[in-house]
Amino acid sequence: KLSRRLQLILEQVPSGSRIADIGSDHAMLPVAAVESGRAVMAVAGEVNPGPFDAATKQVAAAGLSHSISVRRGDGLQVISPEEVDVITIAGMGGGLITSILDADQDKLKGVSQLVLQPNVGEDILRRWLLEHHWVLISEMIIEEDHKLYEILTAVPEGSQSEGQLTNEQLYQEQTWQREWSGEPPLVISRDLLLQMGPLLLADPDPVLFEKWEGEITKLEGILASLSSSKLSSAEMKAQDIRKQIKLIQEVLACLQ
Ligand code: SAM
Repeated sequence: KLSRRLQLILEQVPSGSRIADIGSDHAMLPVAAVESGRAVMAVAGEVNPGPFDAATKQVAAAGLSHSISVRRGDGLQVISPEEVDVITIAGMGGGLITSILDADQDKLKGVSQLVLQPNVGEDILRRWLLEHHWVLISEMIIEEDHKLYEILTAVPEGSQSEGQLTNEQLYQEQTWQREWSGEPPLVISRDLLLQMGPLLLADPDPVLFEKWEGEITKLEGILASLSSSKLSSAEMKAQDIRKQIKLIQEVLACLQ
C-alpha cells in the first residue's frame, strides 16, 4: 500500500498518462500508477544500483515488466524525448530536483505535467519552474510521520485550463491590508511567494502554519547561537534574522 504522500502524488497524475518516475527507489509509485490504470506505461529511473535492483524486483513481483521499464541512469537521461507525458520526482531536495530538470531540458518537450515533491528547498524549485515557463496548478503541504512535505504540480505556461492562474498572477507582489490591527499594509514580495508558495498562501492549510512556526523556531535557534558570537558580522546577521522572523509572524497572523 502506498504512503499518503505517494498516494497524493499519484492523484496528481491524469488518467491514461505515460509517466516517468525519476529516483523511483522501490518503484512503488509507477507500480501503483499502472495497477490503478492511471498510467498506461511507466519508466522507473534510478541512478543507484541498490534502488535500481529493488525497483526491478518490485516490478517483476507485481507482474508488470511489460508495462514498466526500469532503467538505470542519471535523472532524465533514462527517457527519450516525447516518450512520457508526466514526470514525477519525489523525496529529494529541491536543489537536486532542480538540477535534474535543468540538466536535460530537451526531455521536457512534450511533457504536459510535472509532479514534484521536494523535501526541502521548495523555493529553489519554484524559482526554476517560474524561470523555465512552468506554471503551478496545485500545491499541497502534508504531514507524514512527523515530517512535512510539499507536492507541487506544474504544467507548461499557456497550457493551464481556464480558471488557473498565470505565472504573472501567481507571483505578482501583493499588498495585504491590516486595518483591523492598525498596522500598515503588509507587502508580500515575489521572493516571499517563491518561499512560501503562492497557492499554499492563497488557501492556507494548518500544516502550512506548522511548517512556518517550525521555521521560526529554527531561526530563533540561530539567533540564540549568534548572541554568543563575538564576530562583528553577527549583529548584522541577527538583525536580518529578526526581520525574517517578524515577517513570517506577520504573514501567519494575516492568514489566521
Ligand atoms: N521517489 C521515491 C519516494 O519519493 O519515495 C524515493 C525517494 S528516495 C529518498 C530518492 C531516490 O532518488 C534514491 O533512490 C536515489 O538513488 C535516487 N536518486 C538520487 N539522485 C538521482 C538522480 N540524479 N537520478 C536518478 N535517481 C536519483
